[in-house]
Amino acid sequence: MKIKAIRSKVYRWTGPTAPARPNLSVNPMDALNSLSDTMGSFRFHDWLVCEVETDDGIVGIGNCALAPKIAKEIIDQYLAPIAIGRDPFDFEAIWQAMYRSTMAWGRKGIGMAAISAVDIAIWDIMGKAVGKPVFKLLGGRTKKDIQVYASKLYSQPLDSLAKEAQSYLDQGFQMMKLRFGWGPLDGPSGMRKNIELLRTVRDVVGPDIDLMVECYMGWTLEYAERMIPMLAEYNVRWLEEPVLPDDIAGYAKLNLKGPIPISGGEHEFTLFGFKQLLDAGAISVIQYDTNRVGGITAAQKVNQLAEAHQVPVIPHAGMMHNYHLTMANLNCPISEFFPVNEVEVGNELFYYLFEGDPLPVNGRINLDDELPGLGIEISDKHLQHFQIFE
Ligand code: MG
Repeated sequence: MKIKAIRSKVYRWTGPTAPARPNLSVNPMDALNSLSDTMGSFRFHDWLVCEVETDDGIVGIGNCALAPKIAKEIIDQYLAPIAIGRDPFDFEAIWQAMYRSTMAWGRKGIGMAAISAVDIAIWDIMGKAVGKPVFKLLGGRTKKDIQVYASKLYSQPLDSLAKEAQSYLDQGFQMMKLRFGWGPLDGPSGMRKNIELLRTVRDVVGPDIDLMVECYMGWTLEYAERMIPMLAEYNVRWLEEPVLPDDIAGYAKLNLKGPIPISGGEHEFTLFGFKQLLDAGAISVIQYDTNRVGGITAAQKVNQLAEAHQVPVIPHAGMMHNYHLTMANLNCPISEFFPVNEVEVGNELFYYLFEGDPLPVNGRINLDDELPGLGIEISDKHLQHFQIFE
C-alpha cells in the first residue's frame, strides 16, 4: 500500500458568531492593555482538513487548527512530496522525514501542526486498512469508557455563570473548568472578580465536583504567586497555563511550590518539548493536543515519557484524535470536552466539520470497539456556513 495523494482544505466559519465581550478570558494580549476584544486573536474560525489517499482507495482524515492557511501551504509544498509514494505503515519514518526536513523552521507551532494533520490521517488509514479503531493499534481499551470534563464557563456575569455551571451538573458532568477574566493589569479588584467567578461555581457545584481553572497564558509569574494562595481554599484540581509557555522556569517555580498543581502543554510540541517540561518539574498534568504536538505518533511518545514520570496526560480539547489516545493509555485518566451551548464557534468548530465525534452521556463518552480508523467523516451538514479554500 502506498500513499497516492494528499489533499488539504481550509474551512472558514462564516456562520453566526457571538459578539465580542471584554474579560471573556485572560490571554497573552492582555499585557498590552488593549481596549479591544483581546481573546479574538485566539478564536479558531479556520480549520484545516487533510485527506490522505492510498493507491487502494483508503482515505484517512487528519486536521489541525493553528493558522490553517499557512499549515495548508506547508502540507502542499513540503509534506505531501515527502509522504506520497510511501507505505503509511512506515509511519515513524514518514514522521521523521517530515520533522527533519522542516527542522530549520518547523519544530514548533504551525510546522508541527501541519505534520500533525498528515500523521493523524495516516493513523486513520492504518486503522481502516486493518479494520480496527485507532485505539486498538495504540494499546487497546484501558477503561470501560472515558470521563470527560465540561470545559467552558468563560468569565461572565455571576448569575449566568451559575446557570451554566448548574447546566453541566444537570447533564451529569462530575468535573468542569472555568476561565479567569482578569489579570495583572486589573489590580486588586480584578483579583477579587476572579475569586468571585471561582466561588460562584464552587457554590453551585458543591464540594464533590472537580473544578479546574484556566489562565490561557494571560498571567505573569508574580501575579500567579499572589493569586494562588487565594484560590487554595476552593480545592482547585489544577491551574492551567498561568504564564507564557516559554517560561518553563516560571511554571516550575509555581508547580514545585504548590499547593495547586500546574497544568500545561496545549502550546508545547513533540517529545523533546515535553521532556524539557518534565525534567524541570514544570507541570503536574500534561495537556498536549494531538493535532499540534506532532500527531498520534508524537503524542504516543509523550504518553510513554509521561507514564515514566507518573504525570497524567489529559489531552487538550477532547475530539476524536485525542479520545483514541486517552482510551489506549492508562496514564490518560480523563479527557476534555467543549460543550456547544452558544453560537460562538471556536474550538467547537470541529463538531461542525466532522460527524462521528461522541457526545457525553452523564459526563462520559465511549468509543466503538469495531469502527475502523478514527471513526469520523467530513460532514456536509453545515457547508452553508463555511468558505472553503482548496
Ligand atoms: Mg487550555
